[in-house]
Amino acid sequence: MAKTLHIKNYGCQMNVYDAIRMSDVLEPLGYRQVDTPEDADLVILNTCHIREKAAEKVYSELGRLRTLKQDRADGGSEDRAPMMIGVAGCVAQAEGAEMVRRAPYVDLVFGPQTYHRLPEMVARATRESSQKRGAGRGIIDTDFPIEPKFDFLPDAKSQGASAFLTIQEGCDRFCAFCVVPYTRGAEYSRPAADVIAEARLLVAGGAREITLLGQNVNAYHGTSPSGPSGPSGQSGQSGGEWRLAALAAELAGIDGLERIRYTTSHPRDMTPDLIAAHGEIDALMPYLHLPVQSGSDDMLAAMNRQHTADDYLNIIDALRATCPDIALSSDFIVGHPGETDADFEATLDLIRNVGYAQAYSFKYSPRPGTPAAAMEDAVSEELKSERLARLQTLLNEQQISFNETFVGRSLPVLFDRPGRSDTQRAGRSPWMHSVHADFGTAAEAAAAFGRTVDVRILSAHPNSLAASPVRGSDAAQQEPATV
Ligand code: SAM
Ligand code: SF4
Repeated sequence: MAKTLHIKNYGCQMNVYDAIRMSDVLEPLGYRQVDTPEDADLVILNTCHIREKAAEKVYSELGRLRTLKQDRADGGSEDRAPMMIGVAGCVAQAEGAEMVRRAPYVDLVFGPQTYHRLPEMVARATRESSQKRGAGRGIIDTDFPIEPKFDFLPDAKSQGASAFLTIQEGCDRFCAFCVVPYTRGAEYSRPAADVIAEARLLVAGGAREITLLGQNVNAYHGTSPSGPSGPSGQSGQSGGEWRLAALAAELAGIDGLERIRYTTSHPRDMTPDLIAAHGEIDALMPYLHLPVQSGSDDMLAAMNRQHTADDYLNIIDALRATCPDIALSSDFIVGHPGETDADFEATLDLIRNVGYAQAYSFKYSPRPGTPAAAMEDAVSEELKSERLARLQTLLNEQQISFNETFVGRSLPVLFDRPGRSDTQRAGRSPWMHSVHADFGTAAEAAAAFGRTVDVRILSAHPNSLAASPVRGSDAAQQEPATV
């Protein structure tokens, strides 16, 4: 019988991938996706625990869903099953049984490593539901199973022209501020053969670009396609393992795959072979998100980042030597415990030194159970806000100047999103700009969808570029973009 599913997603691209895979797992049970919780038989909140008040936000969203669920139960239609509420992701992992205690109307609580078991969880909850209309069933599954969930997931479905593919999960770096090692568990890399097979399916489904995902993606070290005792991967890797550079080189050989990206990386895992790959693999896009968090060596040590500001700058120099037009992005945390004015100034200096194309910045927020949460010398909220505003002003200036260097240039854009009207489409440049182009007619716009088309940049905005397609004589004047 047809049933409806609504997944509300929070957080990073890894959660986007997980939400796609949850719906793949539920499809054989007859679930199809709907846009609103009001229309859904099963609502899943796929949560993120990385920053402030994550759990409180989930509980308040659950309060709204409780009313919907109760209204459905009170409506008492016999042809409609009781509404089921699931909470997935890192808040579910961290809260576990506490969530069922605080929100007893929740039916399923499951972590990022167990969603392949959704069919069993849903079946159990349905069996137990007959007597308890409006109440929850409280099924909790927050294990870290020995067997990876990837072995049990169905084949990947089409995600369109730009697709996500998780290749690595968990993290062993234990940065002092970060909750990921506790919610996502120990680092695990998928075997290269599985990644290649999934990439082929995505390309067969129309993907022209694949973004390889991992909490610390450049720590990737998956079993090579010839097995654990087979010959080494490229770049001198031993023990039948492939690092990310070897995997990217192999994926670049897939017919029809034009672009490869990867995120998020740790500077310590930016190995020489991966840096070299940016100059060797055409499909590897000239854009890298490489979080540094702070420009102060004292803060980097307090954060347990295991590198200095100079180490980071040396990596940037090496990347620019191998790929001169590479655009850089980063994450920054302001107001980590102990951060002085001088530490903060060092971060601004590093930003001026690197020159970012774009970046994300956050006020430090203590995460229960992490070492930083127990540190003294907390920075006041007021000072955090002041520092964040100064940092963002500088980053925004850099982003606008970066975008402006593209005006008048022709670039290949992969159009993967609808535009504001039927003559427009939106897509990404190789440097990750969001590009909006007007094709003049709805037919031309439709023809561009899912393809890479050369466009001329007409104007630059803080978060996007406006463009029109390159036609006829225009094409002859094309010039490669340099940053
Ligand atoms: N693995 C990546 C790395 O090594 O930087 C980052 C993953 S984390 C999901 C994304 C970003 O959230 C981090 O880079 C950091 O800037 C931010 N973040 C993590 N914990 C935080 C905290 N407790 N307070 C504020 N920001 C935090
Ligand atoms: Fe968190 Fe990234 Fe540090 Fe791992 S490397 S602990 S995911 S910030």
